[in-house]
Amino acid sequence: MKLNGLTKHIPGTVDFIFIDQSKCNRCGQCILVCVVNLWRKTNNIISFSEDYKEKCLECGACYQVCEADAIDFHYPSGGTGVIFEKG
Ligand code: SF4
Ligand code: SF4
Repeated sequence: MKLNGLTKHIPGTVDFIFIDQSKCNRCGQCILVCVVNLWRKTNNIISFSEDYKEKCLECGACYQVCEADAIDFHYPSGGTGVIFEKG
């Protein structure tokens, strides 16, 4: 997906996505739902991109789709994160 010019990342964002590996059942739904492809499965371990704070659209879809309740997602606080320029 081409997002150049549509979003602007605001520096200073703290971590806002966490995964609990003890709850994750490796179903892969988070991988399928993320439109910017931030999730991956490596050696049967689910993880997300280290630079997710630069790329995540904060849609919350990974959080919503995780039936195992393994993903903790909160919108970044303090005015950081992503600003949508259009739409
Ligand atoms: S959707 Fe949840 S349970 Fe499924 S692979 Fe992703 S983090 Fe794990
Ligand atoms: S919040 Fe949306 S864009 Fe961000 S990692 Fe989850 S599915 Fe991907």
